[in-house]
Amino acid sequence: MSGKTVLVTGGAGFLGSHLCDRLVEGEAQVICVDNLQTGRLDNISHLMQRRGFRFIRHDVTDRLGIDGPIDEIYNLACPASPPQYERDPIHTFRTSVLGAMNLLDLAEAKGARILQASTSEVYGDPALSPQSETYWGNVNMIGPRACYDEGKRGAETLFHLYREDRGVDIRVARIFNTYGPRMRPDDGRVVSNFIVQALAGTPLTVYGSGRQTRSFCYVDDLVAGLVRLMASPATVKGPVNLGNPGEFTVLALAELVLAKTGSRSKVAFRTLPGDDPRRRRPDIALAERVLGWGPTVPLEEGLDRTIPYFAEVMHQNVAGV
Ligand code: NAD
Ligand code: UDP
Repeated sequence: MSGKTVLVTGGAGFLGSHLCDRLVEGEAQVICVDNLQTGRLDNISHLMQRRGFRFIRHDVTDRLGIDGPIDEIYNLACPASPPQYERDPIHTFRTSVLGAMNLLDLAEAKGARILQASTSEVYGDPALSPQSETYWGNVNMIGPRACYDEGKRGAETLFHLYREDRGVDIRVARIFNTYGPRMRPDDGRVVSNFIVQALAGTPLTVYGSGRQTRSFCYVDDLVAGLVRLMASPATVKGPVNLGNPGEFTVLALAELVLAKTGSRSKVAFRTLPGDDPRRRRPDIALAERVLGWGPTVPLEEGLDRTIPYFAEVMHQNVAGV
């Protein structure tokens, strides 16, 4: 990795900022591109003074001109939380599809390898569990999540076509629910919501019965998987699932967060959003085989590392820091 020039779109976001950290530590020259829609400069402020780190505020739906060589591109630009991506669904769709095309054109022009941050959402509400890469999914193309799910599916198609027709060196990661420090307290995803609610002593909002399942991956594990996938040989042609196969109901997560925070918050049941997948669990056999990668941080330990971050942020907010 050392000495490479690496472009990270969405680099001021939750996953992107951790990835930038890791790349800078590996002595890459990092160009971080972000429109700050859901990302924050706070996430990368510690990198601003580092030699070899550069931030460009830019929306990936507009073409991006960069002088000089680029060796690798990680395309993470896209809001990932349902309430965030549903706020301006047409822009979300444009970000996924037009953004992918603009970055693929840049990769082709620079001869760069490019990795797409795809998602378990391409499997929709899966009829099979666990989900392996061979499953084509079950997505409602006109439902509330379609702007994201179909946008990400379209981006995968584009990546495939640019490899087949133009020989662009692509990698595709299908990322399953990932959590950790630097998620926004108002992000809206379940782990951040529950921790913030537990720490604030307000009810934990469980949508539906809480019997739907998710598999939660700690951010450091996920970033390690992304870096391994980028470094993998070109024989790794298709998408690769990255996630932690440990499967939990949303209600079990709520109970775990309550136990870990020592909170006396209650659980409050709320309406289940439309098209909410009933279960999600990655089959990571392919990642284990071709990347030698697997998660190392169980949910309990990941929560122990994440809760203090939110406690600190909430403390600063109260103190007006
Ligand atoms: P995030 O919302 O924290 O980060 C997304 C970043 O992209 C933000 O910094 C945002 O400002 C930026 N962005 C959004 N639209 C943009 C645009 N048009 N131009 C430039 N920048 C733009 O979310 P995250 O969890 O860090 O997710 C990062 C990527 O990983 C996303 O592509 C997401 O789809 C994918 N992913 C994440 C998860 C997860 O659980 N965290 C799961 C599956 C896939
Ligand atoms: N969820 C919940 N309460 C919340 C936020 C989310 O019960 O405050 C549920 C949501 O309905 C879904 C699961 O938790 O079933 C995961 O939601 P998230 O938005 O984190 O991710 P996604 O649905 O995209 O997997």
